[in-house]
Amino acid sequence: MDAKAGKMEFGAKAHVALNDPKLRANFRRAMDGLMTKRAAQFSDQEEWEALRARGAGVRARALAQLPQLLERLEANCTANGIQVHWAETTAEANAIVLGILEAAGARRVIKGKSMVTEEMHLNAYLEANGIAAVESDLGEYIIQLAGEAPSHIVMPCIHKNKVEIAELFADKIEGQVYTENVDELTAAARAALRGSFAGADAGISGVNFAVAETGTLVLIENEGNGRLSTTLPPLHIAVTGIEKVLEKLEDVPPLLSLLPRSATGQPITTYVNMISSPRKPGEKDGPNAVHLVLLDNGRSRVHADPELGDTLRCIRCAACMNHCPVYTRVGGHTYTFTYPGPIGKLLTPQLEGLDCAGDQPHASTLCKACAEVCPVQIPIPDLLVRLRTEAVRPGAAAAVKGGGSSASVSESLGWAGWRLLYASPLVYRIGTRLLGWFGNLMPASAPMLKQWTSVRAKPKFAPKSLHELAREKGFCDE
Ligand code: SF4
Repeated sequence: MDAKAGKMEFGAKAHVALNDPKLRANFRRAMDGLMTKRAAQFSDQEEWEALRARGAGVRARALAQLPQLLERLEANCTANGIQVHWAETTAEANAIVLGILEAAGARRVIKGKSMVTEEMHLNAYLEANGIAAVESDLGEYIIQLAGEAPSHIVMPCIHKNKVEIAELFADKIEGQVYTENVDELTAAARAALRGSFAGADAGISGVNFAVAETGTLVLIENEGNGRLSTTLPPLHIAVTGIEKVLEKLEDVPPLLSLLPRSATGQPITTYVNMISSPRKPGEKDGPNAVHLVLLDNGRSRVHADPELGDTLRCIRCAACMNHCPVYTRVGGHTYTFTYPGPIGKLLTPQLEGLDCAGDQPHASTLCKACAEVCPVQIPIPDLLVRLRTEAVRPGAAAAVKGGGSSASVSESLGWAGWRLLYASPLVYRIGTRLLGWFGNLMPASAPMLKQWTSVRAKPKFAPKSLHELAREKGFCDE
């Protein structure tokens, strides 16, 4: 992504989304339903607070020993027969996946849902190299047919209503008759995907948690497509970010209790897959070979910062975006990059760089709704403020790629003047007096007011300060 394009796109796309009543209605309806279902799952405030403290503790403990746990994960996976690969960048990860597929002579791939492979733009890469990858999660399948990216990390086609899906299926699925019946639409997708499962040479999936203690890959889902993708083809490639590691098997249940309840308001997902090895002699199903690709792509840099490293606790439940007043109005595609909503505003500038996505931390009201519902207690608003600071701080810490890219001389001068004003009572009095006299003469289009006045009325400066009024009324002496 061109840095300037990435930077400019959010604002422009937000305006388009806000003027699209259909899109806003689709999101509003879906998000209201998700918020209600989640609230019903966590009706006991005491239980919620205790459980999320435990979830946060599990994730924080794993991140505190990340390098050691990754080594342990590799050792135990290898002992189990899972081949482990390390990728520093998305380009490396793509090349590793392609190399594994080519070595196995695989040309047709079936995919389970995976946001990391979205981050890698893996489908396009494989297609350019002559390998067809079919998404098997229903939502992912729909947006693949539409040629779009996910607009939500759990429900990728949440931006579409059933009429749009009915039209899409009638257009793209051979022999499909137009119907708005949801059961018939699901059956049509299932019928089309059966052939893709049966003919796949390899399955690719994401990973929800990777357990270092046992070398186990945990994958949760509702449709059974994840289990089919990882057991039916002779080759399974799991791809994940390095932060998904957990120390022990006993760390999984608290997170399994938090994730589906936060994500979709379900007590638990329909399927919980735990993959610890390829097919063993005598077993009736499972792939002959399992590979695990561990992707860094800037995560080590995020991890190195004691404050921003909390971002990596994320378990990708999407509760923050379901409750975000910005995301629910502009939708996921506005964010341009893979991860939308509050977690995207945190993660994207850190992975891609503040010079590329430095506007995203500003797309927040800092209302703290995201932090209140985050099941692993990520202090999202605090970290957004930190990123805003890094974006304008000249010579910013190297922990944030592109730090200082939004620094401007006029803004620095403005804040220096502000400091001067507030540091000296005399300067403050003179300054407020001058603003009271002359501030209202400033035109609404003045550069220093333009960002505010483009969407709001010009602020009106009071002719007298509060101190002066209080003095006149005899409430204070000076
Ligand atoms: S930041 Fe918290 S609420 Fe948002 S997706 Fe991650 S875990 Fe869920």
